Amino acid sequence: MKEDTVVKPAEDLVGEQELKVMGARVHNLRNIDVEIPRNQLVVITGLSGSGKSSLAFDTIYAEGQRRYMETFSAYARQFIGNLERPDVDKITGLSPVISIEQKTTGKNPRSTVGTITEIYDFLRLLYARAADAYSHVSGEKMVKYTEEQIIDLITEKFTEKSILILAPLVKGRKGHYRELFEQTRKQGFLKVRVDGKIRDIEFGMKVDRYKVHDIEIVIDKIKVNPEKRKRISEAVKAGMKYGKGAVLVFDEENGSAHHYSKALMCPVSGISYEEPEPNSFSFNSPYGACPKCNGLGSISEVDINKIIPDREKSIKEGGLAPLGKYKTTWIFRQLEAIGKRFGFGLSTKIKDIPDEALNTILYGSDQVFEIKNEFAGVSSSYSLQFEGIINFIINQQEASNSRNIKKWAGSFMNRITCPDCNGGRLKRSRFSFLSTKRIFLILPPWT
Ligand SMILES: [Zn+2]
Repeated sequence: MKEDTVVKPAEDLVGEQELKVMGARVHNLRNIDVEIPRNQLVVITGLSGSGKSSLAFDTIYAEGQRRYMETFSAYARQFIGNLERPDVDKITGLSPVISIEQKTTGKNPRSTVGTITEIYDFLRLLYARAADAYSHVSGEKMVKYTEEQIIDLITEKFTEKSILILAPLVKGRKGHYRELFEQTRKQGFLKVRVDGKIRDIEFGMKVDRYKVHDIEIVIDKIKVNPEKRKRISEAVKAGMKYGKGAVLVFDEENGSAHHYSKALMCPVSGISYEEPEPNSFSFNSPYGACPKCNGLGSISEVDINKIIPDREKSIKEGGLAPLGKYKTTWIFRQLEAIGKRFGFGLSTKIKDIPDEALNTILYGSDQVFEIKNEFAGVSSSYSLQFEGIINFIINQQEASNSRNIKKWAGSFMNRITCPDCNGGRLKRSRFSFLSTKRIFLILPPWT
């Protein structure tokens, strides 16, 4: 019976699809065999007294716990005492187990089974300390190096090749970067690489402010050989300083670019992750929460059918539900002005309003509309942009201090799964951390 007391390394379990329990006789279990699929949510159900807890807690969990204790030294074990082996012939495919207890607490949109049972805190620690990071762009394992390692790698990999050592300044961002070029020039650099092209830095240089750019400083051009190590080292150090811990090596022969960084980095795309901390995996912390849904896993989306429930109605008859029937208010004056531009009136049925006009009503427009105002015999005119009913509702929901207004705005919205995190609540890059250990989780009996 020696073999099943040895805890297998986690790698050995990867191929196993099942947790097998053979000849379980704990309490009222009658010598039963079960196979439970791994990496899935499995529910054990049955009549009261049929042995659900005996199987989950007193057999599987007890055996997992006992094997864990056996990994301690004999010295440590004398303080814990030996755990009794559960009455079972054999259990295979068992990984480390965690059992949680049933708790009843208040619930809010931020509670999950994980947070209520506090198991999420342990998982966050596990992911921050023991997980491997993979690039969410290329799927490659993320790497990080020390400065010395980077110098070694470059010297080795590019021997006898002509390379440029570049310091990344801007990665995929818009702007004209005139000040940046000027500052770089004043620091004594002569060349930059802009969107893949090497250019001399000229006085007053700038790039198209509405386009996305990649900009790097050319630190040095080197024909690599072991004698050049000192020069490579100086270039890498300077590159790291301007590139905030990252350098790019451009191979002049085949035109390929290679990224090196002191932070976790994707070797293909060069994107980097900050060093993981337990709160990087918390959806209740701004470091971990998905920015789109603020860690809730779902977002409110305006439902057009709730704004226009009946296309047969005109605006005057209350066809735009959030506005109600016609009143002499500012918003209806604005709609009138939009109507004048697009050729419809407030009595036009919504279904007959041109698409472009309806789009402007719902989503707003950059166009300027003239509104004539007559008050006490003085006429004046205003020109303004219309923000759109949908944007108005979203802004009310997000920014209003009034509960009633929030509730009103919410009545035109539906809750949908967040498209950025797919309901997972965390920043996208967080899902690219994979735990190196696989865990068998036993949830409490919800009787
Ligand atoms: Zn989200």
